[in-house]
This record gives sequence, structure tokens and C-alpha cells, in this order.
Amino acid sequence: MENRLEVENLSYAYPERHALDNVSFRVSSGEIFGLLGPNGSGKTTLFKILSTLIPITSGSARILGYNLATEVRVIREFLGVVFQHPGLDGKLTIIENLRHHGHLYGLSGKTLQQRISELLECFGVADRAKERVEILSGGLQRRVEIAKSLLHSPRVLLLDEPTSGLDINARQQLNDYLGVLAQTENILVFMTTHLLEDAETCDRVGILDAGRLVALGEPDELKAEVGGDVIFIESTDSDTLGIAIIEEFGVSTVLTDDGLRLECERGHEFAQDVVAAFPDEIQSVRFGKPTLADVFMKLTGNLFEERKEN
Ligand code: ADP
Repeated sequence: MENRLEVENLSYAYPERHALDNVSFRVSSGEIFGLLGPNGSGKTTLFKILSTLIPITSGSARILGYNLATEVRVIREFLGVVFQHPGLDGKLTIIENLRHHGHLYGLSGKTLQQRISELLECFGVADRAKERVEILSGGLQRRVEIAKSLLHSPRVLLLDEPTSGLDINARQQLNDYLGVLAQTENILVFMTTHLLEDAETCDRVGILDAGRLVALGEPDELKAEVGGDVIFIESTDSDTLGIAIIEEFGVSTVLTDDGLRLECERGHEFAQDVVAAFPDEIQSVRFGKPTLADVFMKLTGNLFEERKEN
């Protein structure tokens, strides 16, 4: 069996709209791959195709060597899928939920018990095993959800926005758990996300924009391609200041929620120069290294608009 997921020239159109346009990438076992994109970029459509919910209509995909267009039944056996909407029964305890799901997969007796114990331990919920799911926090529920999807020891785990609705600590913990899991069980992890912090924790990232894959690589590699520094300037009159900065320094700015944004080399020097040139117009200047949002902006010319949570 091959140990990778391969997507080649995948396109998908709904009756009125193109959702995916010639998308190609590969992911290997043991790797966490994050598909990052703003709302409407096509993440869910790609997730649905890979999780066998909608058929391939153009292009191809192979999972561990099996053809997604013709070998869906085999593929489903080694696929673990975590949807955005919870699939746990809140009235049952964690362990009851896991047992019930295990039975659906034909697991029982000691094998099932042992697998449940391993997963409860791995996801740090062993001490809560006898509690009803409905009283657990969102973060814990999500961990149980993922544990459930791993009961049948899938070799490929697909997650749709797994950290959606979680606070920042729960998000970090979950990302850590996924990292451990990918390494210890050599699972191929594919997740969609619209959150930059989540994408930063992935081994490799693909960035989708309007159905096209505009970037593919390790987060640090992609950010290094932006180069230089990114500066944010706050002013009471950003429009006028933006024009003045172009005239004075020949650098164009973009207005964002965080103020005027621009890219330049040697940001610390530019920050001093710009404050010296416009001391009365500037309220604050902040500079830092590029993020994946800057990668997105450089490649598409658009701001990466995160749906902010918590
Ligand atoms: P994302 O998950 O990144 O938000 P989606 O895959 O849900 O993106 O959507 C991609 C594009 O396809 C969007 O323009 C969306 O409006 C459109 N779309 C999604 N689902 C359907 C559908 N069932 N019918 C028609 N258009 C759809």
C-alpha cells in the first residue's frame, strides 16, 4: 500500500459556481497537512470529495494508492473522518459513545476495550470517561470526537475545521494532540482551517483562494518567500496618511482592520523614519515578521479575512 494522498488537477463545479479549479498536491503518512483558505475558498468541497461524500467529476485523487473515483469502499475502511458538526450522543458517557461506535465498526471485547483505553489516554480524557458528553467543554468534546474517529485505527484522518468553536488554549492542545498522533501512529492527517494559527502548526500547508491552490509548502518556507518585515501604522486619518507615505517613501499601503499595512526591508529603520516624517499623524507603529496572511496577500492581492473566533 502506498503511503500518501495524491490529488491531481481536481476541479469541481456546483450548478452556478466553480468551487475547485485544477487543485493538485500530495500528503505523506505521518504528516499533518492543513488546507487554509478564507470563507468560500473551496475547503469544504475538497474535504467532502476526499471523505467520499461527493464524487469526483474532474481530475483524480488517490488515497494510499486507491482511486477515489472507483475504489470508495476500500478507501472508507482506512479513513477516519471528523466533521464540523458533532456526532456524539450527549446523553451517553464518553466510554459509552466510544463503545457504541466501536460496535458499528465490528470491534468488540478486549480489542475494543484496549483501543478505547489507548485513545482515552492519548487524548487526555481517561479520567472523564464515565461522564456524560453533554457536560464536557467544547474542547473535550472535540477530543472525544477525534478519539471516536480513530477507533478503527484509520491510516488517514480527515478533519473539517477541527478547532472551530474552541478557545485558544483548547485549539493549541488539540493541535498538539494531532501532532503526537501523526507521529506515534504514522497517520496521514489532512485538515481544513480558516485559522492562521492552526495552519502554522501544520507540517505543510496548502492555501486556497477562490478554488485555486495559490501556495503549497512548509509554513516557514512560505513566509520566507514574502521576505522583509510587515508594518502596521495606526492613524486617525489613514487615507490621507497612506497617500502621504507613498509620496514621501514611494511605498504603497493597504488599509486593514489593524491600520495601514505595508511591507519593507529593515522594518525597524522604516518605522523610525515614518514616525519622524509624520509625528502628528501617527498614533502607533508596529512591525513584525510575515505571517501566512501576508503570504496570502502577496499571492492574491487580497486581505486574508479570518472569521474571528474567541
Ligand atoms: P469553504 O469551505 O472554503 O467555505 P466551500 O467549499 O463551502 O468553501 O464553497 C466553495 C464555493 O462553492 C463557495 O462559493 C460556495 O458558495 C459554493 N458552494 C458550496 N456549496 C454549494 C452548494 N451546495 N451549491 C452551490 N454552491 C455551493
